[in-house]
Amino acid sequence: MSFWKEKTLAQLTSEEWELLCDGCGKCCLNKVIDDETEELYYTNAACKLLDPIQCQCQQYEERFTLVPGCTKVTLDNIASLTWLPDSCAYRRIYQGRDLPSWHPLLAGDKQQMHAKGMSTQNKIVNETKVKYLEDHIVLWPLKDCD
Ligand code: SF4
Ligand code: SF4
Repeated sequence: MSFWKEKTLAQLTSEEWELLCDGCGKCCLNKVIDDETEELYYTNAACKLLDPIQCQCQQYEERFTLVPGCTKVTLDNIASLTWLPDSCAYRRIYQGRDLPSWHPLLAGDKQQMHAKGMSTQNKIVNETKVKYLEDHIVLWPLKDCD
């Protein structure tokens, strides 16, 4: 059942809300903002808890305690989370788009997402190993495709 097409974001159950997440891991990347232009750049320096292969949080239940800056995407804040990647399922649905064909809900698992380069798999370094975030700016998190 394509619940994301039949319901608005406000109508989703908490389970459906969780299912909507593609598990790409891109929202767990550190970002830097240019002081002068206020432009936001993604880096490949990931939160210390992001699994580099599975692209999942390794302490999901305790994430907000262990990482105070960790942000839960909600109905109330989705409009303001403009730093989420264009490929983010919540952002796509919020903007009136559909899910891409590689989304796990359509593809069945995360393999297509990984194969199309839409996740963080094998692309990240742990933030604890990073000295200057500016040296880790990357463009691949901006990629979006259907
Ligand atoms: S705590 Fe987990 S969910 Fe939060 S940013 Fe880190 S890896 Fe991502
Ligand atoms: S970017 Fe969006 S869809 Fe991808 S893991 Fe983060 S919240 Fe989920």
